[in-house]
Amino acid sequence: MQQSHKRSKVLAGAACAALAGITVQVAAQSTVETPATKAATVAAASPAEHVEWGYTGPTGPDHWSALSKDYAICNTGQQESPIDLKDAIPADLGPLSIGWKRLAIRATNNGHTVQYDAPAGSRFSVGGKTYQLAQFHIHHPSEHLLNGRRFPLEIHFVHKLGDGSFGVVGVLVASGAGNPTLQKLIAAIPAERGATSTGPVIDPRALLPVARGFDRYEGSLTTPPCAESVDWVVMRTPITASAAQIEKFAGFFPFNARPIQPLDRRFLLTSR
Ligand SMILES: [Zn+2]
Repeated sequence: MQQSHKRSKVLAGAACAALAGITVQVAAQSTVETPATKAATVAAASPAEHVEWGYTGPTGPDHWSALSKDYAICNTGQQESPIDLKDAIPADLGPLSIGWKRLAIRATNNGHTVQYDAPAGSRFSVGGKTYQLAQFHIHHPSEHLLNGRRFPLEIHFVHKLGDGSFGVVGVLVASGAGNPTLQKLIAAIPAERGATSTGPVIDPRALLPVARGFDRYEGSLTTPPCAESVDWVVMRTPITASAAQIEKFAGFFPFNARPIQPLDRRFLLTSR
């Protein structure tokens, strides 16, 4: 258990696309069970209302709905993320086209995670929709499980569609061989919350597994306001990072994963 519960200074910034101006739908009842998590309290602000939220204690996931009316769906929604990726139904999901370009590292420690900005021009397409890459960031441990298995890290590539919805590509990271690109990204993390640093040019495609099988489902942002407007694509094959790389990331963000949410009436599809 991290000693924590001290409230961090308020920051502007957004984890996992917790962006201002998202219309939050009010969904039906249903109590989402969120198991208690050990975590560091990393409180920060919603750009909209400057409401602090974190991953444990009184501002943790069990209480997100109570923190702001804008977060109401976090504990009442029925299409929330992350989920355990299991019992997926094989389907013809069409090709997954990823057109990410090389970019110069621009890393911001927003108190919840490290966010790497992506300049315009990178995109991915799935199911006839094309999304523009806005940023990517890292969770420790993974938020999605794969057949009940949790991984040390998960990278979220957050893309936007013009209508305000999102397409997020998730990449699970297992412990194994080091990833040279991840090394550069982790080395650029600013220690100070709210700080931004720059680094060398990297190719984000080096963070993708060779095998391109993926799962797809309709879900939500995994941070407040938890808006249920995310087309999730999670790669079925993890990449690897070294134990030292994982440890270094964990030094900055000891725990920034939301608990697993129920699938409810949704279908989880997997590419054939
Ligand atoms: Zn995320």
